[in-house]
Amino acid sequence: MIGQTPPTLLKLARQALLRDETLDMSALEKLPMELLPALFKEALTGRHATTVKAMVATWPFPCLPVGALMKTPDLETFQAVQAGVDTWLRRKFHPRRGKLQVLDLRKKHHEFWNIWAGVEDGDCSAENQDEQQVVKVLPRYALRRCLKVVADLCLRPSVDEEQTCFLQWAQQRKDSVQFCCMKMTIWIQPVHVIKEVLKVFHPEHIREFELNTEWDIFMLARFAPCLGQMRNLHKLLLAPVSKNVFKIGNRTTDMEDKCINKFISQFSRFNCLQHLSFRRVYFLRNRIKRVLRCLMTPLETLSITYCYISQSDLNYISECSKLFQLKNLDMKGVVLEALDLMPLQVLLENVADTLQSLDMKCCRMKDSHLIVLIPALSKCSQLAKVIFYCNDFSMPILRDLLQHTANWSQMNVEQYPAPLECYDDFGYVSTERFTQLCAEQIDRLRTIRWPKCISFATHMCPRCGERCVYGRRFRPCLCQRRRQ
Ligand SMILES: [Zn+2]
Repeated sequence: MIGQTPPTLLKLARQALLRDETLDMSALEKLPMELLPALFKEALTGRHATTVKAMVATWPFPCLPVGALMKTPDLETFQAVQAGVDTWLRRKFHPRRGKLQVLDLRKKHHEFWNIWAGVEDGDCSAENQDEQQVVKVLPRYALRRCLKVVADLCLRPSVDEEQTCFLQWAQQRKDSVQFCCMKMTIWIQPVHVIKEVLKVFHPEHIREFELNTEWDIFMLARFAPCLGQMRNLHKLLLAPVSKNVFKIGNRTTDMEDKCINKFISQFSRFNCLQHLSFRRVYFLRNRIKRVLRCLMTPLETLSITYCYISQSDLNYISECSKLFQLKNLDMKGVVLEALDLMPLQVLLENVADTLQSLDMKCCRMKDSHLIVLIPALSKCSQLAKVIFYCNDFSMPILRDLLQHTANWSQMNVEQYPAPLECYDDFGYVSTERFTQLCAEQIDRLRTIRWPKCISFATHMCPRCGERCVYGRRFRPCLCQRRRQ
């Protein structure tokens, strides 16, 4: 047929191999190695479980990044992969060099398949594309001897059949295989469940840890030693799942204070932490200094959101040298209304050469707060994203801010609150005034810099709960849309 490329000889050969029911391990071991990656891909997508199992057991390359090919869960092929590993473990002799060292189950793209796709397409000859090139994309740990299985885990209360099956399988093989979890996300799990999982997936391998929890601070203290073992953590998020978790009175008891300290003190064990996030962690108030003083490494991201902080917290933020290379600062939902923002201005000046994103949405800031920040903001030359939605700024102060942003040449996304002049005495938006004022602001800004993605938004409409947004075009709230 015109316009359709006929299948290559290699593809025909693979199809024939997959149809061949006698294709077993000894037959696979006689095939040229460069045929195997594409054959494995096809066996997996075509759900040829027996072939998948035999191929895992005889895999001649040091790494098998199978997760990259299994983005859609399929229990049967997943079990075939596990059965292949079991056979691999039982075999004493592996005839080919470069035998399997790492089975990577993470469901993300892996360079290995690209390299071998190149070989298949005839981009380069198989001779100069041997395993050497593949080894280059292998992580350092692949060079050790024991078989390592790498996975990301997300533990949720709902049952994930594939993961349950994998965890049971891993539990039974923890003495013969090294299991590594690079990214662990927890959603509402009892402490003892996580502790069991950490007996199989040793905490020191975890690089990203996200704890969405409903524990009280006593439970948090019980978990603290496990957290302290995650010495190689790069990224940590602690987020209670509802407002009342971690709730403590204005004055903590000695016991509560002890528990919180025990948890915070673990931060001094992280050797490479770069991104630290707390969402709705109320016990941080008056304790931010304690947290930051425990840090061993400079942070790239500090995210403290939806909580109250004190003036002394804010004062320490400006002094802490661990924050002087900050790229992302997120203080969304932190109530700043009653605070003096001078320390924040000092911090912004310190990070003027590195800060790329700043989120201060819903901080209840007023003109007097923004005035303090403008001189520092104007110096932040790397800023690519600022969010000020949902604060109370008047037209002249917003204009003043925008007039001082000539340095923001990297800016991609900028979001500002609708100026106060857009609302009537009852708090309702005049859409006409809103669109007119925003258009004027943008026109004026264009005389000093060309904004890419700028928008202004009103507070939530009291009738429909939506905002009116003026960006590339005007989007009224739901009730205004209905009226039109
Ligand atoms: Zn509305």
